[in-house]
Amino acid sequence: MKWTLFCISSLFVVSTYAQQNDSIATEKIANQILNKGQCYNDLRVLCKKIGNRISGSVQADQAVKWGYNTMVDAGFDSVWLQPVMVPVWIRGQERLSIQFSERGDFITVPMLSLGNSQGTDGKELEAPVLMVNSFDEFDRLDPKEIVGKIIFFNYRFHQNLGNTFEGYSDAVKYRWMSPMKAAPKGALGIIIRSISTGADDYPHTGSTKYLDSGNHIPAVAIGNITADRLEKACKRGAVNAQIESECGMDGTKLSYNVIGQIRGTEKPNEYIIVGGHLDSWDVGEGAHDDGTGCVQSIEVLRTFKSLGIHPRHSIRAVLFMNEENGLKGGLAYADSVIAKKEKHILAIETDAGGFSPRGFELSVDKDQRAKIKKYAPLFLPYGVYDFEKDGGGADVGPLKKQGVVISEMLPDSQRYFDLHHTDNDIFEMVNHRELKLGATAMTMLVYLIDAHNLLD
Ligand SMILES: [Zn+2]
Repeated sequence: MKWTLFCISSLFVVSTYAQQNDSIATEKIANQILNKGQCYNDLRVLCKKIGNRISGSVQADQAVKWGYNTMVDAGFDSVWLQPVMVPVWIRGQERLSIQFSERGDFITVPMLSLGNSQGTDGKELEAPVLMVNSFDEFDRLDPKEIVGKIIFFNYRFHQNLGNTFEGYSDAVKYRWMSPMKAAPKGALGIIIRSISTGADDYPHTGSTKYLDSGNHIPAVAIGNITADRLEKACKRGAVNAQIESECGMDGTKLSYNVIGQIRGTEKPNEYIIVGGHLDSWDVGEGAHDDGTGCVQSIEVLRTFKSLGIHPRHSIRAVLFMNEENGLKGGLAYADSVIAKKEKHILAIETDAGGFSPRGFELSVDKDQRAKIKKYAPLFLPYGVYDFEKDGGGADVGPLKKQGVVISEMLPDSQRYFDLHHTDNDIFEMVNHRELKLGATAMTMLVYLIDAHNLLD
């Protein structure tokens, strides 16, 4: 009886001791990043000295050098470049002009060609506009009506959802699939209402797709205000549009993922990685998408170094190249893991904006989730509470097939799709505290999973 009591009480002492140690360690992590974190300054350099950096561009090359030097300066144990062949897409000059009424003038409106789309070789394409509100409506059209038209896919982002990523998942098929649906039926061009929550007129670019065999017709996006105006005009009567653009694919080019590592003390051949993507679209400054993810990932390792925490597993920051229009970096990284037979136990991505962190998606089983959730109270002071969702990001997705637990940080989602893939995704739109809170949450998660072998 006494012996059992002794055991129970000593277990209790051990576990409260461990909990106390964890809360001291996580508080130290938060103090370090919120008081002395350098991620915001890193982001300033990336956004203001280099700017946007689409795969294959001079700026993307500069960003690779920046990532490499930043990690060397931070004193990581090793830093290296991993070669990746990336597709090159060039925008060039572009214009969309709309004749909103039969006898009116053509008015040039804010627009962006969709990424990877083919332009008009710089020639003017003029055609009548035919509006549809959904693919269902498009499929019901008499095929004769489609031939020779510019189709306006006027699908609205569902603003009624609390989590904007659900609205994005629902609407993004109109960016991705409109050309492959309309081109085979004889349409000459595509205009889409941007995949945007914004109450503004910023057009949002992003990748689109053609059928290999089909016509590569031009595809452009307009902002919500222009889309509202075009919708009204189409309901009223005949509308014509002119598209002129020079965009198109331009072969492939050698680029790199940038990787930094701190070597593990007990399990150096088992890896935990944190990452974001280094490329961006060729508009704005790629601040929230995904400069923030890159600098937060670097901050995780830098914090381990600054606080003298020696992780059991090896920890890597991976800056992936070409997430936006090819995912070649994520695929190359996963291939190298197979080739080198490296055992990865966790891959955390952050590519949903540098806003206040709220939780983490985790592709774990029930027991693993329960283990991780025991530590959830440590995250609460920083506003992080959601560990329930399955999932993970695009760049770490290929690792899931190899049995690696993948994860993505979930920031507050309200403003991301105002800025995503627009000229407005600039450094000034990032709040330094929110950015650092995200880095804090990531560092805490890596620390706890590593220290307690939560996924071993
Ligand atoms: Zn992104």
